[in-house]
Amino acid sequence: MPQSLSPRTANYHIIPPRAPRGALTLIDRHQPGLPEQRMKRIKTAIVGLGKIARDQHIPSIAASDAFELVAVASPHSTLEGVPCFKNIEALLQAVPDVSAIALCTTPQVRYELARRALEQGCHVLLEKPPGATISEVQALVDLAEQKGVALFASWHSRCAPAVEPARAWLATRKISSVSVVWKEDVRVWHPGQHWIWKGGGLGVFDPGINALSILTRIIPGRLLLLEAELSYPSNCETPIAARLLLADSRRTPIRVELDFRQAGPQSWDIDIDTNDGRLSLAMGGSVMRINGQAVATQDSHEYPLLYAHFATLVRERRIDVDLAPFQLVADALMCGRHVTVEPFED
Ligand code: NAP
Repeated sequence: MPQSLSPRTANYHIIPPRAPRGALTLIDRHQPGLPEQRMKRIKTAIVGLGKIARDQHIPSIAASDAFELVAVASPHSTLEGVPCFKNIEALLQAVPDVSAIALCTTPQVRYELARRALEQGCHVLLEKPPGATISEVQALVDLAEQKGVALFASWHSRCAPAVEPARAWLATRKISSVSVVWKEDVRVWHPGQHWIWKGGGLGVFDPGINALSILTRIIPGRLLLLEAELSYPSNCETPIAARLLLADSRRTPIRVELDFRQAGPQSWDIDIDTNDGRLSLAMGGSVMRINGQAVATQDSHEYPLLYAHFATLVRERRIDVDLAPFQLVADALMCGRHVTVEPFED
């Protein structure tokens, strides 16, 4: 898992084991001769029981040796076999020994929930995007530092199997241009998710930020936003499509096309031209080709890898918050030219 610490948090904390919560000793359960009582898993709660919690977080926690799901909080949804609460406050009161919280809610409510969890001394995993604004995520970093607990702003697409091989291949090549095409049918992938169209929901940047999380991992140096054109349905607060021009530190052009109005199969593709030919990532970073030839990669295990990394952060009481993808979205929303397009009806 990439180590993507912000400069501020590059020096991580190691807190002595007298801390009130999460002072669990994580031990390989398969290691012979360990006393049973020391083989504890991190007591974990999920807050926000929606699509991603059910599709990925619950199975990943169930398969993990490091975590155990002890509670869920969600206003309208419940999970059989696990204590369920309407809100985080009730959960923290009823399950005071919960150590870690995975926040799988919509981004607009994430800050208050994360703040509450951190104040209670819990380790926190934030789904992507880490919040609704940059300043609120920075405030969470400060609070996690103050509390000496782990905070992980997760970017699941960075755990796609071709991402690290692509980063390694590019590290020794000169990039001449980059093209990103990230198009999907919002009615297929986000049916009824009205929050996407409200401020803080990011619109087409909700999937598009996955592409930006890959780009900011595999292209060396910092990326800049040069231009943006954003298409807003006349009845929505967030864009349905976006065209961005980014550049790396050598002013290499990076063109990004995002569209929620795709009919038929989605495109989650990145092509990078270099002095050694073209590197292509397809299927959201799952498939890699060099000059059209497939490169063998591992099977996809994005969320299990996220949880493995979170276990390390918890054990070391570290913060991993890389805001680079989120900053590019904020820059686009700040500087982009607005185009009004036809209203969107789900
Ligand atoms: P979703 O299906 O709409 O689920 C969001 C959930 O948040 C809802 O189930 C809702 O609970 C819960 N929620 C809202 N306010 C809450 C609060 N105050 N306290 C506790 N729970 C609250 O959305 P999703 O697709 O799972 O996406 C959630 C996040 O995951 C987004 O940031 C998204 O970008 C990210 N993500 C999604 C996917 C995906 O494939 N869908 C993939 C990767 C990442 P109730 O149902 O109980 O009302």
